[in-house]
Amino acid sequence: MSSKSLRRIIRDATSQDISRCLGCSDCDTAHPDQDIPLGSLIQLAAMDDEEALQSRTLWSDSVLVAARGSCQRGLDLHKIMLSLREEARQRGLHD
Ligand code: SF4
Repeated sequence: MSSKSLRRIIRDATSQDISRCLGCSDCDTAHPDQDIPLGSLIQLAAMDDEEALQSRTLWSDSVLVAARGSCQRGLDLHKIMLSLREEARQRGLHD
């Protein structure tokens, strides 16, 4: 397992600091292929919880498209999702 936290991995890869996420749910949209709301996914990642890497939400392409520009705090959720997908692959959690 990586010794870096998910927050640090995202920051290094995207310059986005997910500790700025307020859990406000403004980025949440209903997609049938997600299991948790996108805001919850970001909160899990901020807590360095590997559940974030295994969530169906992370691998939903419709959520990925909708994520662009959806954060009211200015976080680039599209970039953040892509970096989390990459980390999941590196940890062998996804093909
Ligand atoms: S809109 Fe931004 S700040 Fe709000 S829950 Fe989503 S990621 Fe967090």
